[in-house]
Amino acid sequence: MTSTDKKKKVKVQCAKCSVEFRERACMKPGGGPSAGCPTVSAKNLLAKALREYQSPENREFARHASIQEGECYSGRERQPYVIHPVKPRILEICEFAQKMGYRRLGIIFCAGLANEAAMASDFYEEKGFQVASVMCKAGCVPKEEIGLSDHEKIFRGNHESMCNPIFQAMVANEEGVDFNVLLGLCVGHDSLFFKYAEAPSTVLAVKDRVTGHNPLAALYLSGSYYAWLKKPYHKESVFFRPISDSSAG
Ligand code: SF4
Repeated sequence: MTSTDKKKKVKVQCAKCSVEFRERACMKPGGGPSAGCPTVSAKNLLAKALREYQSPENREFARHASIQEGECYSGRERQPYVIHPVKPRILEICEFAQKMGYRRLGIIFCAGLANEAAMASDFYEEKGFQVASVMCKAGCVPKEEIGLSDHEKIFRGNHESMCNPIFQAMVANEEGVDFNVLLGLCVGHDSLFFKYAEAPSTVLAVKDRVTGHNPLAALYLSGSYYAWLKKPYHKESVFFRPISDSSAG
């Protein structure tokens, strides 16, 4: 992004759309737009995007993803329909992969979720897939390799293997996986994995170290127990002080 781009005002803000949800331009033909609405103002881009769906690969992928989306709800024959989801994501991934004819999955996981990775691996094997799995610390490369100093490690004074998402991607590529399933990679490590993975990727769960891997919990509670997240950063706060400092103090 150039400095001119940064000065440009953001135009598209669907998250702040002022039109009642079911009445929006993107929700029904003839619906109303909000300021900067891409449905009405980005027609050229929309046409460009639709052309991409014409490639057989994208079309099949998108078609099965949307069929799978529908199949995650039960009782759709009843009218008026009351939404009733029935499938957890672990099953949604399995059924989508089966629809796509994938045989080999890659479980790309964080060391902090090693138990969950073992369970997920068993689950997908029982469903008939071959499963390759690669943990983030694979390679045993010290964090110093990417320029970290000792005080930037979690366990100072010790060897600490760096998370190695580029290696994880390369190993998964070499294993010839059809579909990667990410499990708990750190923010940024996941981005690098996406950048280097050759097969398409999805996410089974994202890591949240303090909410049992449910990052939205902090958002849901941001008006009460997590209100402190919105407050200015206090260097002296016990929440931000390293354990060694607080025990010393
Ligand atoms: S696409 Fe348009 S109508 Fe839909 S949420 Fe965005 S601004 Fe609102």
